[in-house]
Amino acid sequence: MNYDTYGSSAVELAIDLANADRDDPAWVRSFLDSHHEWFTDGTDLSLTPPDAGRVAETSGLVRDVALAESEPDVMARLNALLALASPRPYATDHDGELHLHYARPDADAVEQLTTTVAMGLSQVVVQHGWQRLGVCSAEGCGNVYVDTSRNASRRYCSNTCASRSTVAAYRARQRA
Ligand SMILES: [Zn+2]
Ligand SMILES: [Zn+2]
Repeated sequence: MNYDTYGSSAVELAIDLANADRDDPAWVRSFLDSHHEWFTDGTDLSLTPPDAGRVAETSGLVRDVALAESEPDVMARLNALLALASPRPYATDHDGELHLHYARPDADAVEQLTTTVAMGLSQVVVQHGWQRLGVCSAEGCGNVYVDTSRNASRRYCSNTCASRSTVAAYRARQRA
């Protein structure tokens, strides 16, 4: 699977958003700041509380898509997310490589974020299958991930969680 294109890397923005720690009241601002490269230069990243609420809603919807366990559920939740998007794609080479952006360059931060996330997630699902999104199997983790393995066999969000679970399973066998 080729993840070199903007469309595919946009799914990583979606995954980061779904996994953001929403307990911290300032999480939206710190999320936007740490992902500023996704926004047109000069986009105002200081959101009003209602706009921050819309970002939280998008985050929840991405997580809902990953949690869905059947194709109809994935489709319904993906379509709920897409209903919030306002795609207006354009080609750009601002970083030296020709690629597509999904939202108007002058859209506000919420519109750029929601549109990019919805389109990135949808592309992966329609091109690679609804099973490509999952929730980490490691105890106490709960992060969502996109499975880029050849045979879609991934169960953990990260190598850290995979090895933590291997060690835990080994210890459980030793005790048994
Ligand atoms: Zn770009
Ligand atoms: Zn994990």
